Amino acid sequence: MKHVTRKATRNVNQNEGLIFEKSSSGKAAWKLPPLDVPAVDTAALLGPSERKDLGNMPEISEIEIIRHFTRLSTWNYAIDLGMYPLGSCTMKYNPRVNELVVRLDGLANGHPYQPEPISQGALRIIKTLSECLTEITGMDAITLQPAAGAHGELTGLLMVRAYHESNGDPRKKILIPDSAHGTNPATAAMVGYKVENLKSNAEGMVDVAALTAQMNEDVAALMLTNPNTLGVFEQEIHKIAEIMHAKGGLLYMDGANMNALVGKVRPGDFGVDVMHLNLHKTFSTPHGGGGPGSGPVAVKQKLEQFLPTPVPITKPDGTLGFEYSRPQSVGRVRAFHGNFGMFVRALAYILANGPDGLRQTTEDAVLNANYIRKGLEGVYDLPYSTPSMHEVVFSDKLQARKGVKTMDIAKRLIDYGFHPYTTAFPLIVPGALMIEPTESEPKEELDLFIEAMKSIAEEVEEDPQTVLDAPHSTRVSRLDETAAARKPVLRWKPGS
Ligand SMILES: *Cc1c(COP(=O)(O)O)cnc(C)c1O
Repeated sequence: MKHVTRKATRNVNQNEGLIFEKSSSGKAAWKLPPLDVPAVDTAALLGPSERKDLGNMPEISEIEIIRHFTRLSTWNYAIDLGMYPLGSCTMKYNPRVNELVVRLDGLANGHPYQPEPISQGALRIIKTLSECLTEITGMDAITLQPAAGAHGELTGLLMVRAYHESNGDPRKKILIPDSAHGTNPATAAMVGYKVENLKSNAEGMVDVAALTAQMNEDVAALMLTNPNTLGVFEQEIHKIAEIMHAKGGLLYMDGANMNALVGKVRPGDFGVDVMHLNLHKTFSTPHGGGGPGSGPVAVKQKLEQFLPTPVPITKPDGTLGFEYSRPQSVGRVRAFHGNFGMFVRALAYILANGPDGLRQTTEDAVLNANYIRKGLEGVYDLPYSTPSMHEVVFSDKLQARKGVKTMDIAKRLIDYGFHPYTTAFPLIVPGALMIEPTESEPKEELDLFIEAMKSIAEEVEEDPQTVLDAPHSTRVSRLDETAAARKPVLRWKPGS
């Protein structure tokens, strides 16, 4: 399936010349009717223009500008084009009903400075979503303010710190398993805690004996992802919560993987004290490209007084509003009330599915991950045989014998028309292939993905260089990803 370079034919994926280079004087994508009112001297009427000289703007026809932007749109991959198996990211389909609802006039054009009496609908959405999420998680109270998962972690740990300080017992350490998402230790460090690493056992779960040995009165909380980043449910979760609570510590759950639990079990029932959700993963509000996101934090009652202000409340007269004065609050963590558009989408998704639909979603997500696991077992190395939940983690051990690493396989997947899976973690699996299909994918797409992965494994045996040089079908091949993120080139310059 090597890429063919069609020199003479048109290939929309190749660089067809930038818009500035196509410019030629006098071309235009617009045409105005002749002036039928008296001409006025705008400078005399409005004063001198503040507008700086825009330099040489391209002059180009309508069809060229349309082709330019349409071509640019095809250089991207999207969930609307195919499967997006990025493990831990839950890149599920965002149902169009969400977009229909969020574009309703009253919601799209609401303003956060609108007085409470004329914002009752928006406030009701915040209240109803809060109630749904506390019910789903089995927690007592929630804040919708945080703008992302990592921001939710920060908010949650600020509350953990406030809790211990209010007990006159400031603690110094946070325990984090070696299978954690990278944001967890970063968050703990930002809040001023010392991070202590907790080893996993051979099944890829928290080593309860190690936890017992490491837990003491200086530990503020354990930050646990469940299911963890191996896609494995922590089977000893009750015991883990008991060990934490016996020494006055709290159990923080990174709930970014709730896609595997919704409608089946509730973290509040298995001992979690504080957790965040990623609405932009579990509840279908779209993400990627840097936002927007939403990372609500749910807490048990003992942490309720520390929630960020303003807190949505029902006032004595029965109307909805905000309470600004909460002396023990960690304070505001986000401008206004959070990413409201994401609340609307998440609530539309929850109500459209209903309890049975949400449970079915969870079951399908787990089924799809296990279908891929079964399909690729033996083809790729499976480092942990513990049952998978919503994602499965293979390693490149078999392919590494031919010098092919997980990154090479991921790049080759692009030639087969798929977005790569996650390669960067979990760190406890060297050369990880972390795959999360989500419930969105039909069996046909899963079969295609499995076929592509099998085919790449065969190529590794027969012609590893093809895989090592991949991707062959894209405009640019392997980029310096760090430089692309740190020093993006956003402006066209003549001769570049
Ligand atoms: C995605 C994710 C996060 C971080 O969420 P963001 O919204 O990207 O900040 C944290 N933990 C886990 C397990 C995740 O998958």
